[in-house]
Amino acid sequence: MMTHSSVADLRPGTAIQHLVNVSGGKDSTATYLKAMESGREFRAVFADTGNEHEATYEYVSRLAEPTGGPVVEVVRADFSRQLAIHRQTILTKWPAEGIADEIVAEAAALNTPSGNPYLDLCILKGRLPSRKAQFCTEELKQLPISSQVVGPMLRSGPVLQWLGIRADESANRAQQRRYNRHDDGSIVWRPIFRWSVEDVWAMHRKHGVLPNPLYAMGARRVGCWPCINCRKDEVRLIADMTPEHMDRIERWEAVVAAANKRRMATFFAPINGDILPIRNVIDWARTGRGGRQYDIFMQDQAGGGCTSDLGLCEREAA
Ligand code: SF4
Repeated sequence: MMTHSSVADLRPGTAIQHLVNVSGGKDSTATYLKAMESGREFRAVFADTGNEHEATYEYVSRLAEPTGGPVVEVVRADFSRQLAIHRQTILTKWPAEGIADEIVAEAAALNTPSGNPYLDLCILKGRLPSRKAQFCTEELKQLPISSQVVGPMLRSGPVLQWLGIRADESANRAQQRRYNRHDDGSIVWRPIFRWSVEDVWAMHRKHGVLPNPLYAMGARRVGCWPCINCRKDEVRLIADMTPEHMDRIERWEAVVAAANKRRMATFFAPINGDILPIRNVIDWARTGRGGRQYDIFMQDQAGGGCTSDLGLCEREAA
């Protein structure tokens, strides 16, 4: 039984299975189109975090239509089992820690699957992710793809994952290699590594594929809507154009706060030292106070931005 791939598997004559990671953003779309041009058979997969814009779901679901390529498969994380275990832990251990009965009962009741992987993960962790604890990328994207798609594929032979990562996206990404072995046993390849953003848009035009409409709305990146690493002007954009998405985050903050002992949860990292619920962050984003120096989006510092080596969270357009 095949359990992993190695770079040697990429030699001519070896039967390789190709998998394109699709996010709904421009770089992964260009990668999908490049896979089409290669004439190889491939599968394409999208990890649904439960926190995407409707336009992204629509875009990904229809990518095969103008291209004639494979329909993009959708995977979602499932935390039902872990929530059940956590619920039992709350019921048995929290009372012994002196936590009030009504808080225990409320937290236990909330530790049931909501149907949304992003919210379920946050309830389970007792917090929302942050730049320094960015468990969302791994838990909601990387692991579902590895366990639900790559793992089963490896039973049939080596797997090459095509990633839409470009060197000029960031200093961090520029240091990545074109190929490397991934922990899940596949080989990952960055076929558009040396492409410019203009090359990416040219690929869309060549195949008559329109960009995800979020770019035309003013978004610089496609991914969670909002992402925990949003920049100030993105917070404003999302709040102005799709307030219902911010309303949802406000509800999530309340639910996650009620499901943990600290009774507090905020979606965004502290701004200028202040821990702010999303409604206050939106108010701040609409002011002139704190410009780029307080931006909270995709910085190249350690632990900042998307550090996934699979590039599953798109960085802003250059
Ligand atoms: S897009 Fe942002 S919030 Fe979503 S998984 Fe990636 S880092 Fe986390």
